[in-house]
Amino acid sequence: MSTWTTLAVLDWTTKRFQDAQVSAARLEAQVLLAHALSCKRIELYTNFDRPMSEAELASYRGLIRRRLAGEPLAYLVGEHEFWSLPFWITPHVLVPRPDTETLIEVVLARGGAVTTKPGQGRVLDLCTGSGAIAVSLLHELPELTGVATDLSPEAVAVAVRNAERNGVSARLEVRQGDLWAPVAGEQFDLVVSNPPYVASEVIPTLSAEVRAEPRMALDGGPDGLAFYRRIIAEASGHLRSGGLLALEHGFDQADAVAAALRAAGLADVETVADLGKNPRVTLGRWQP
Ligand code: GLN
Repeated sequence: MSTWTTLAVLDWTTKRFQDAQVSAARLEAQVLLAHALSCKRIELYTNFDRPMSEAELASYRGLIRRRLAGEPLAYLVGEHEFWSLPFWITPHVLVPRPDTETLIEVVLARGGAVTTKPGQGRVLDLCTGSGAIAVSLLHELPELTGVATDLSPEAVAVAVRNAERNGVSARLEVRQGDLWAPVAGEQFDLVVSNPPYVASEVIPTLSAEVRAEPRMALDGGPDGLAFYRRIIAEASGHLRSGGLLALEHGFDQADAVAAALRAAGLADVETVADLGKNPRVTLGRWQP
C-alpha cells in the first residue's frame, strides 16, 4: 500500500476538485488540508513528504466529502479572509465576497468626507452579518466609531467576535434588530449596507454553495429590492448633514437603487463597478 504524503494528498484533491468544477481547486485543497492538520498552508510544503495518519486522513476525507456536496469552504474551516483581515464565519452568516471590498474602497476613496465633524465620525452598517464591512472600515479608519445591526442574533454573535478578533470592539457596538429599529433617533456620518438582494424566485437557481448560505441574508423579496426601499425611506432621518449612504447591490440593480436615492433627495448619486466590471455600489450624500 502506498503512503499518503501531504503532497500526494494535495495533488489528489486538486484533481478531484478540478473534475468537480471547484473554482480555486488547489487553493481550496491547501486550505482544507491545513485545517485538518491544524497547520499553516506554507507548512504543507515545508513538510511535503510527511505521511498522514489514518485519523488525519479520516477527518480530511470528511471535509472533502462535505465540500464536494456544496458546503462553502468558509463554513468548513470556520473562517474567511476579507479586506486582508481574518473573520470567523458560521453558517448563520453570508461568506464575505471580494465584490464587497468595492464598498470599502469606495468609502475610503472619499476619505475625510466620511466624517462631518473631525474626530467624531460615526458609521452604521445595516445587515452586518459577519461584521465584515463595519469591522474593516473601523480597522482602516481609527477615528471612527460605529454601530452594526442585524436581525439574526446568531449573526450578531459572530460580528461581536469579529470585532474582537480585529481589535475594533471598543469602537463598534453590534445590536440585534430589524434594520433601523436598533438605532431609533440616532444619526450617522456614514451608513453602509450589503442587504439581501436576490429576487426570491432566483434563489432556487443559485449554486449549491450560495444556497447553503442563510436565506435571510440573500432574499430581497419579489424583485430583490425590498431592503433598498426600506433603507432609503428612512436614510435621511439617520444621516447627519453631508453624510454618505453607500449600498452594495446586484449587478443589474444600479439604476433602480440610484433612482430611489435621487427620489429620496440624496445628492451626488453615483455608481461604482467592482473588479468584474459589474455596477456594484451606489452612493449618495444627504445634503439638505
Ligand atoms: N452576493 C450574493 C450572491 O452571490 C448576494 C448577497 C446579498 O444578497 N447581499 O448572490
